Amino acid sequence: MHLSPFLLRPLGSRLASAGLLLAALAAVPVSLSHAQSTALPTLGDGSGMSIAAERRLGDSIARDIYRDPDYLDDPVLVDYLQSLWQPLLGAARARGDVPPELSERLAWQLVISRDKRVNAFALPGGYLGVHLGLVAVTDSSQELASVLAHELSHVSQRHIARMLSRQEQQAPWLLGAMILGVLAARANADVANAAIAGSQAVSMQSQLNFSRDMEREADRVGFGVLTTAGFEGRGFVTMFDKLQQAARLNDDGSFPYLRSHPLTSERMADMRSRLPLADAPLAAGPRVGAAPLSAAAPPPALHALMAARARVLAENATERQRAWLQVGQGPKASPADLYAAALSAHRLGQAPQALALAQRLRDGAPAATQGVVDQLQLEILLGPKARGLNDGLLASLRDRALTGSTRADLLLGAQAALSTPASPNAVARLQQWLVVNPKDAQAWQTLSRLQAAQGQRLRSVRSEAEARAAQFDFAGAADRFKAAQSLSAAERSADAMELAIVDVRRREVEEQLRESAREN
Ligand SMILES: [Zn+2]
Repeated sequence: MHLSPFLLRPLGSRLASAGLLLAALAAVPVSLSHAQSTALPTLGDGSGMSIAAERRLGDSIARDIYRDPDYLDDPVLVDYLQSLWQPLLGAARARGDVPPELSERLAWQLVISRDKRVNAFALPGGYLGVHLGLVAVTDSSQELASVLAHELSHVSQRHIARMLSRQEQQAPWLLGAMILGVLAARANADVANAAIAGSQAVSMQSQLNFSRDMEREADRVGFGVLTTAGFEGRGFVTMFDKLQQAARLNDDGSFPYLRSHPLTSERMADMRSRLPLADAPLAAGPRVGAAPLSAAAPPPALHALMAARARVLAENATERQRAWLQVGQGPKASPADLYAAALSAHRLGQAPQALALAQRLRDGAPAATQGVVDQLQLEILLGPKARGLNDGLLASLRDRALTGSTRADLLLGAQAALSTPASPNAVARLQQWLVVNPKDAQAWQTLSRLQAAQGQRLRSVRSEAEARAAQFDFAGAADRFKAAQSLSAAERSADAMELAIVDVRRREVEEQLRESAREN
């Protein structure tokens, strides 16, 4: 039995302290079809969990996900997904799908899992889970964006809050554990056919299936969001076709998305019927604040490289990596083949080969992909086996990255600054970034390492604390703030301002810690 580690491991750890739910796990098969979800609140009845309660629940689920080894903050793929997600979110706001209160109070955040199965799912509180397998299987940004737009619309239409309204009396952590468990079961046929049962879990299972009406609404609203954002509506249809083909080829468990989103002929027909409208821009609905199509949709060449990246990062089998490496070395290798080969060689620890392949890719790469090819080369040069391979190239890529505009540039440039002696001021760049993005745990961690390298211990320990707080690990954060306060007198007195911040922040996270203890 191969459980979805991303989703089930946190559940397991929580279950250890939850005799109540353990007792409820019996071997009663549960059908996961949509047909079960008949007793849902009707659409538009306005009832449901409050926005604040939904966000708290979402945060507690996110905290578990952040701790999971399958959680992946890959800056390159995060940037790419953000380039789809932000226009979609902007379009949803412009269309009025996301009222200001919802816009401000939910997280609207993507979380990536290394999982190679095709799946995406909306979680409470505005978190959206995306498997690498989904990114890898899509042939265009439109296809990927169509799934994101659909899931976004489940959130904006408050479908989750409506489903969960009956569960509100539950302790949030128990509710969170059940949601993770149901998602894991849904993602995996073995579990689906075996375990999740007991009155609570069964009712949770049926509560967690969106109704057909909700799916219809997410399709309809999602289609409007997609086209308003400037993507082609065709993405919905080709994605549906892709899923249908997979369904025909006997779902072997690699398409969990099919299980939560059965493709009825009605859904397919509905999306197809919208297409002529979408192809005529005037009839496509409001385009208020929307960028023109060419600006929103990333170039196909870039998508191909990012799908290749997702494919390689999701794969741990070295024989697959070797196979990709071989394809990339062939004379007919496409840019995506070269990208996959270079990244595979990097993961296999074959740095010179990885660099040579990346160079071949660079030589033929269209302008739109130069940025990610630079990032790939920098990533290769930062590998443990690449030390001294090409210090000149490393320095120039580092300097370019540190003047770049993307998060991946910033984080890769800062890592390069750590490993090269003549460091430009990466600390200042990270600090500027964190003023605007204070929840960026990886940026805090990178900053902490840079500060430690510069002998600034107090600042380094505080940054480490902030990295933990950003992922809702308040106990860990409080512990690090305490550690900062107990540094030597000399280390503390060197920076009175920072010490004052540490003092305030420690009290804040301790209060958050007490709050979550009260909720549980
Ligand atoms: Zn759906």
